[in-house]
Amino acid sequence: MTKTDTLTNETLRAQPSGSHFIGGTYVEDTTGEEILSLYPATQEVIARVHSATPSIVDKAVSAARAGFAIWRSTAPSERSRVLRKAADLMRERNRELSELETLDTGKPLQETLVADAASGAEALEYFASVAATTNGEHIDLGGSYAMTKREPLGICLGLGAWNYPIQIAAWKAAPALAAGNAMIFKPSEVTCLSALKLAEIFREAGLPDGVFNVVQANRDAAATLVAHPEIAKVSLTGSVPTGKKVAEKASSQLKHMSLELGGKSPIIVFEDSDIDNAVAAAMNGNFYSTGQICSNGTRVFVHSSIKAEFLKRLKERTEKIIIGDPMNEDTQLGPLVSKPQLDKVMDYISVGQSEGAVLFTGGNRPQVDGLGEGLFVAPTVFTEVKDDMRIACEEIFGPVMCVLDFDGEADVIRRANDTEFGLAAAVFTKDIQRAYRVIDQLEAGTCWINNYNLTPVEMPFGGFKNSGIGRENGQWALDQYSQVKSIYVEMGDVEAGW
Ligand code: NAD
Repeated sequence: MTKTDTLTNETLRAQPSGSHFIGGTYVEDTTGEEILSLYPATQEVIARVHSATPSIVDKAVSAARAGFAIWRSTAPSERSRVLRKAADLMRERNRELSELETLDTGKPLQETLVADAASGAEALEYFASVAATTNGEHIDLGGSYAMTKREPLGICLGLGAWNYPIQIAAWKAAPALAAGNAMIFKPSEVTCLSALKLAEIFREAGLPDGVFNVVQANRDAAATLVAHPEIAKVSLTGSVPTGKKVAEKASSQLKHMSLELGGKSPIIVFEDSDIDNAVAAAMNGNFYSTGQICSNGTRVFVHSSIKAEFLKRLKERTEKIIIGDPMNEDTQLGPLVSKPQLDKVMDYISVGQSEGAVLFTGGNRPQVDGLGEGLFVAPTVFTEVKDDMRIACEEIFGPVMCVLDFDGEADVIRRANDTEFGLAAAVFTKDIQRAYRVIDQLEAGTCWINNYNLTPVEMPFGGFKNSGIGRENGQWALDQYSQVKSIYVEMGDVEAGW
């Protein structure tokens, strides 16, 4: 998907000094296909960059090869210092980075100021500690002994989705670099700008040239990168269909891979829940980032005995959400990221109605003063949703919540699990035994009891089933970017039977 189909004006107010950042500097090759960055609130062109040509791919791989040779033998304590310094720089520049993220994604500044670069900085800081404190084992074999050590994989390719551009770049770079790898990061074509700023920050923090590179690439160029024999690992954040294509290419060369893919996650609200908390979580899990979050709880199962009260409070709060200029810090809901995404969401809203779901609130395109071209959609709630409706089965990736009712615990668990996805899930109840019992049976990689969508860096994040392979964050992420070497040390003579 690109954002090129509705051009109205051009300011180039976020134009970077080159499309790619390779070997510690901006690099350009204007013969690559043009990629435009549009501000979703106005549809103005804020930057023009170019997709990688074969010569850019070669440059990036050879820079990463050179960077890896230095970085793999850099002491972990020094890697740690660089990552910590990068975290500090991200925090110092939070406003500048957040404004850029808002321009590129349309997400309100109120959010980007606290959720994007800030979360990236947390990952850098966390993995700085991990780099400095991770050691191998010493195994006593009774006379002889063995050791294990962790070694980096080599050049890792990061492929980013458009919803959390700098956060995704930092979540992948932090564990990869902590483990001593080099990285080539390819942002989404839809939001290609902020990863370049992360590359600048790494350079300023003292990262050797070539260890973190950013390459813009359309899907063909991205596929070339995935297939490149010198790429040791591919880490994708994206949709399930892309995940399958990337997995096929990467596995044909037995590359390491991790896949963070889509979801259609359940939030189960039992009759003994704190209703206000459950409503707040359902709103966070459907409307934050204009609903463009992979782990969103888009199927909200509410016990039939509290459904009326739940819906009353949900409607009151949803209709007060402030939709507006994303740069205004009072704005709570911005536009969708691109015209194709807007069309997809509006199409699902009409599919829901034609399938017989009740449009309880929203569903329209609000007009925002001075932003007539903005890609706004009102926060939308469907009720009377049935399990087999498309709006209850398919990932919409917009501010569209489906509310379904249930009566029995076993029944709701079965229905919650009846999906190809398994990214996230939540349970709302005051009964702690029920909470654990239900969570134990839910087929989802990331679960919450009495909250939703909190993703602290200490907690592994990722999916079951078609929602992915591998985990980001936590100690687990280091495993995904390193391999264990076992070393047997003989202390006696070598015995041979002949
Ligand atoms: P997408 O799958 O269209 O693209 C993701 C990235 O893959 C982009 O950089 C794209 O250029 C690249 N790509 C596409 N085809 C490729 C190919 N054949 N070879 C190599 N690279 C290729 O996803 P999107 O539309 O950018 O993002 C939305 C999707 O991402 C949703 O499904 C959402 O659920 C998912 N997502 C998942 C997570 C998670 O952590 N699980 C987080 C954010 C978004």
